[in-house]
Amino acid sequence: MLASPDLSRRFFLRGKVTTASKANSLVIRPPWAQSESFFVEACSRCDDCISACPQSIIIRGVGGFPKISFKLGECTFCMECIKVCKTGALDATLLNKKINQKKIEQVAWNLDISIHSKCLSLNAVVCRACGDNCETQAIQFKLKLGGISEPLITQNDCTGCGACVAVCPIDAVSIKPKLTKSIVT
Ligand code: SF4
Ligand code: SF4
Ligand code: SF4
Repeated sequence: MLASPDLSRRFFLRGKVTTASKANSLVIRPPWAQSESFFVEACSRCDDCISACPQSIIIRGVGGFPKISFKLGECTFCMECIKVCKTGALDATLLNKKINQKKIEQVAWNLDISIHSKCLSLNAVVCRACGDNCETQAIQFKLKLGGISEPLITQNDCTGCGACVAVCPIDAVSIKPKLTKSIVT
């Protein structure tokens, strides 16, 4: 079991929790990351999660803190990143909890997905790449007059895996963090 970092002390000694965490509120941290202020205080920027990710979707962000880039691929929720995180920045306590894979994915992060108005299908060009790559069918296509289908997102069905991002030929899929995070009980 990992010890929790002494955050109050380290907060003042290292001064890492500053406006940087606020500025990073749109950055997607690795799955099961603690809240942004806790995360930037606890993370030692060791790059272990970056090395461990078989999908190579964790990269160094501002200040050397790891972040996710779905433009590089999707998250498979393999948990290799939290297995190697020694600092508690990623919630390794999950590894000891008896919860099923669906719940594991639900609490990985809290993200919002949207599709930009430049989407090909929204502009009368046939494309279903995002929906075709969505395992949970969170993106469905609704047939409109004229025979073109438009993408519709069911947020509750979206795991935030990011599989729909890189496949979009015009970069129209956007995934961003919500402000609050689910709690495992
Ligand atoms: S769960 Fe696996 S695929 Fe997803 S970010 Fe972590 S190491 Fe990479
Ligand atoms: S991020 Fe959501 S909508 Fe996109 S492929 Fe994954 S589950 Fe489907
Ligand atoms: S892959 Fe991109 S362009 Fe194609 S339907 Fe999805 S969002 Fe639109």
